[in-house]
Amino acid sequence: MLQALYDGKMEAFREQFLKLHPYEQAKFYVEQSPEVRKRMYEYLSPAEMAEIFDHLDIEEDEYKIYLSEMDPLFVAQMLAHMYADNAADVLNELDKKEVANYLTIMDDEAAKDIQGLLHYKEYTAGSIMTTEYIAIHANQTVRSAMQILKKEAANAETIYYLYVINEQRQLVGVLSLRELLTSDDDEMIADIMNDRVVSVFVDEDQEDVARKMQNYDFLALPVVDANNHLLGIITVDDIVDVISEEATDDYSKLAGVPDVDIQYTP
Ligand code: ATP
Ligand code: MG
Repeated sequence: MLQALYDGKMEAFREQFLKLHPYEQAKFYVEQSPEVRKRMYEYLSPAEMAEIFDHLDIEEDEYKIYLSEMDPLFVAQMLAHMYADNAADVLNELDKKEVANYLTIMDDEAAKDIQGLLHYKEYTAGSIMTTEYIAIHANQTVRSAMQILKKEAANAETIYYLYVINEQRQLVGVLSLRELLTSDDDEMIADIMNDRVVSVFVDEDQEDVARKMQNYDFLALPVVDANNHLLGIITVDDIVDVISEEATDDYSKLAGVPDVDIQYTP
């Protein structure tokens, strides 16, 4: 498969490779030798590599190895294109000096998003949330909320919920995309939003977040601080990872085996 890469045929490789789902791209990527991976960095853009890294399923300490194969500017641009929560996960594996380095050469907005996520303790809601959510105001019309949605959609981790905040960025309501689409253009958000919002605290254990997500059947949950300021969201795909992690942990404990990764032999 993808012989074109080994033959040094860039166009043919890109043509085949970019048709794959990023999950398959990621699987292919980790199976290659360092030399072949280096060729991939030449053939793919930072944005295309970011898609792969957003889907990478590797040991946390392995990120270091992969990043060391790339040019620092390429790394910074790739991290900037990744979802901020995933980029923060990667950076959390590096030395402080390296992190500062990458953040300096990155564009400011991306750096700010990622930086804000670096300080949260492991296994808390804060450590798995992302800041790329869609926020609107209660005193807006549906029409103007739609404009915001359209502008932000490309960068938001989910467009399924719009979170309503006040001037102090406190969370005051939520609206699903379906509810927005089925409302009249002139309607006020205040009149159609749900004002009893279920949220999680930034310090809450990720297992509690998983439970809440399951109990309420939401596709995402907002994360707030003690003063109800909206800090981020956690989407259900991040929770799937938590649940499988915890299941592995619990099973290992039950079976009395050390907490090592399960190896699947084909
Ligand atoms: P669908 O038919 O696809 O389920 P929906 O509009 O019912 O569309 P759901 O995801 O089922 O969307 O959400 C159910 C309801 O819960 C919606 O009214 C939505 O606005 C609301 N909702 C979403 N997130 C929250 C939240 N964190 N707290 C409270 N209500 C929420
Ligand atoms: Mg529903």
